[in-house]
Amino acid sequence: MVRQKGEFQIRWKTDLPYRWAIGKLAVKYFEELKKRKIMGSKCPKCGKMYMPPRGVCADCFVEMTVDDMVELSRKGTLMGFTVVNYPFVDPNTGAMRPFPYGYVICQLDGADTYLMHFCDEIDHTKFKIGQRVEAVFCDELPKDHESYRPELKGDIYDIPFIRLLKDEEV
Ligand SMILES: [Zn+2]
Repeated sequence: MVRQKGEFQIRWKTDLPYRWAIGKLAVKYFEELKKRKIMGSKCPKCGKMYMPPRGVCADCFVEMTVDDMVELSRKGTLMGFTVVNYPFVDPNTGAMRPFPYGYVICQLDGADTYLMHFCDEIDHTKFKIGQRVEAVFCDELPKDHESYRPELKGDIYDIPFIRLLKDEEV
């Protein structure tokens, strides 16, 4: 950027703390994660199952409540994938996310929508569209795993990633 004569810059850093309401369905979703339950929301009119849950059906605009939430399987089907090979700021931490890392689009069993999430596989030759996948909870990992946490906290890192299932695990 070329500065024009008479221009000047003032640089400073400021904190912008903020909070926001995530809504009743998202609160229930994260509370149930602590019990190892993955919840979706089912439209009471058309039956479409949303995972992650949402408050209004995108097809028929009917509002859903926590009473419309249903537990889904932690297993599903791989619908798309990529292996990210460039540095990226993790919006959850503000730190650079180590790369490469896998990123998948999957459909949990019983859901009509797709979930996008990290994957622990980084070899793109190991992914096959249609293969079985499973959500992994942080407390099930080996204690020396970077994503291990001893307890579920009701946040996105309760499920740090999706893993590809081997044929014998399906
Ligand atoms: Zn609907």
